[in-house]
Amino acid sequence: MEREERRAGDDRAVTPRAAGPDHGAHHLLPHRRHRERVRWDLVGCALGGHVVVGTDVATVTPADAALVRPADDGHRLHRCLRCEAWTLHPVPAHPTRERCPAEDEVEVPLRGRALRDRYVLKLIALERVLHVVFFAVVGVVLLFVARHRDVLDEDFRHIVSDLQSGGSVEGTGIVAEVGKFFSFSYSSLYLLAVVSLTYAAFEAVEAVGLWLGRRWAEYLTFVATATLLPLEVFGLLDRPSPLKLLTLAVNLAIVVYLLVSKRLFGLGRHRSAPAG
Ligand SMILES: [Zn+2]
Repeated sequence: MEREERRAGDDRAVTPRAAGPDHGAHHLLPHRRHRERVRWDLVGCALGGHVVVGTDVATVTPADAALVRPADDGHRLHRCLRCEAWTLHPVPAHPTRERCPAEDEVEVPLRGRALRDRYVLKLIALERVLHVVFFAVVGVVLLFVARHRDVLDEDFRHIVSDLQSGGSVEGTGIVAEVGKFFSFSYSSLYLLAVVSLTYAAFEAVEAVGLWLGRRWAEYLTFVATATLLPLEVFGLLDRPSPLKLLTLAVNLAIVVYLLVSKRLFGLGRHRSAPAG
């Protein structure tokens, strides 16, 4: 697959002068049927550089005019496959191929709504990375506590007793929460650690799949997120907190987005196909 990502530099966006009839591979370029509020193609090119072809070819012909055209002073104009901007590139001193790649050799980049969806999936993947870190740390801490339970229990009681000399703290707040861990048996602590680490691994697989834009990862994320929604609602009603509300809102948005915008289970098929 022939495709080159180029960062700005020699990539001054330009408008081609009259270059004769506009021949060639037009269907490789986006078809814009309406004005987008956000030009995701421009965002993509700002982040990843323009996507042009034929910067390494010896000969350019009128058949390539949709994508490459001759210019002055040892330069050529190349049209970005993503945002359609024309950029100036030097004619290669040592070309590596004779002609521009055939259309079926060109890998067309994601554009418009498809590109936006890829960014949303990457955002969800980053949110999943937070889960991975949190549950991995909890799992490791639980393993550590299980392994050194007796010693830590004794130290913990000393600390509580020292603190108590300045007032009663046992049975309150975080001290009580931490103290609960020491009432767990070894096997319960190990079991909790394994559950936590397994969940971290599961979320890691999900994050990688989402980052790579895999369809299975969208289904996995939907099922994993939707399954936890009732628990989150219950937890919020039981003991409301801003963090729980935020978590519920984020997960609800993810579920709705996946169902409607990513058309899981065939939903939303009546909507028109994404433009460009
Ligand atoms: Zn571009």
